[in-house]
Amino acid sequence: MKNIVILGSTGSIGASTLDIVSKFPEDFRVVGLAAGSKASELAEQIRLFRPEVVALSSPQAAKTLRTMIGNRPVKILEGEEGLCAVASLSQGDLVISAIVGGAGLKPTLAAIKARKTVALANKEPMVMAGQLMQEEAHKHGVTIFPIDSEHSAIFQSMEGHRKSDIRRVVLTASGGPFWDWEQSALTHVTPEQALKHPNWKMGAKITTDSSTLMNKGLEVIEAKWLFDLPPAQIEVVIHRESIIHSMVEYCDGSVIAQLGHPDMRTPISYAMKYPERVPLSPPVLDLWKIGQLTFYQPDTGKFPCLQLAYDALAGGDGYPATLNAANEIAVQAFLDNQIRFLDIPKIIAETMDAYRPSPLSSLEEILEIDQWARTTATRFLKPCASSFV
Ligand code: NAD
Ligand code: MG
Repeated sequence: MKNIVILGSTGSIGASTLDIVSKFPEDFRVVGLAAGSKASELAEQIRLFRPEVVALSSPQAAKTLRTMIGNRPVKILEGEEGLCAVASLSQGDLVISAIVGGAGLKPTLAAIKARKTVALANKEPMVMAGQLMQEEAHKHGVTIFPIDSEHSAIFQSMEGHRKSDIRRVVLTASGGPFWDWEQSALTHVTPEQALKHPNWKMGAKITTDSSTLMNKGLEVIEAKWLFDLPPAQIEVVIHRESIIHSMVEYCDGSVIAQLGHPDMRTPISYAMKYPERVPLSPPVLDLWKIGQLTFYQPDTGKFPCLQLAYDALAGGDGYPATLNAANEIAVQAFLDNQIRFLDIPKIIAETMDAYRPSPLSSLEEILEIDQWARTTATRFLKPCASSFV
């Protein structure tokens, strides 16, 4: 029996994780849950899963939750401190890190410092602070298992092989909903269109990132830190069907891939029960029905975000944190109808241009750059917003 803590329990990954827990109650028990501000969703999860401690980042929502819960035996915490306390609960064995964005950095680090095994979906902290997270994990003897489907595929394709034999890893990308659109049509993309992913059902931020290819850019940086690989060994291929989740090519020409239906419960459950597999029993992968698998080169002219991520990786220092923060600001502004779709890469590029690199080592320095980049990107929103008619 593993005691599970879920950070971001009310989100898409959180819901898939709870689905696995509910199907395999003899293997997993929920001891802690944390989320942003959705009090009624968390109240329902408390009723169903009976965690001992929960936290909401919004103190107002935590107050609402307390009135909803009445005298149930659950401790309700709030704010960043509350999230970190849930992440480091003494009774927790495995922390599912599934908050969206940089907000997950401190709670995920708290889990690592408390020597919890981490299953990582929340890729933004790895982008912002990959080196620091890996150093802390190493220092505290913590294993970070990937949940992101591509990284789980790479992890699975590396099992039983020598890292020194790897020639390259190839991350697959669905290409998102606009892959085959004319460049000119992208000017008029609406949030509703960007939120229609062809193959996966996910939260709004990652779905938007998939439509700009920034998600793949963030995943390239995530792969660098998770697998300690140089950027030149990390490639991206567009694979429309999302059946091959990623692959590893070895020095003898062998390419090992992991395939499956696009269902996040597969990589989540693998991280939860490694090295065992959980009998999820999804429909068989009927290759006759699928018929063909297609592959294309990414078009970084049409989707500059992927190139910006490679540039950030090459720039080092605070460039990845700057890229991530500017992207979070731009995506939210796009979803709020403040800027156009094509303004997203422009705002990120302008923010990266404004960054003056200096070596980062401490969490405080990383958070300072993150804050600076958010403020700077927000300033770049204004001219776009006023020209938005
Ligand atoms: P989501 O928007 O569905 O859920 C986000 C969760 O984070 C919610 O529980 C929300 O309450 C919580 N949250 C938001 N802001 C918070 C804050 N300030 N403090 C505390 N909690 C906060 O997102 P998602 O699709 O589940 O994605 C979560 C993470 O996993 C992202 O980093 C995403 O890139 C990654 N990921 C998701 C998928 C997927 O299929 N959804 C796949 C791979 C990786
Ligand atoms: Mg992914």
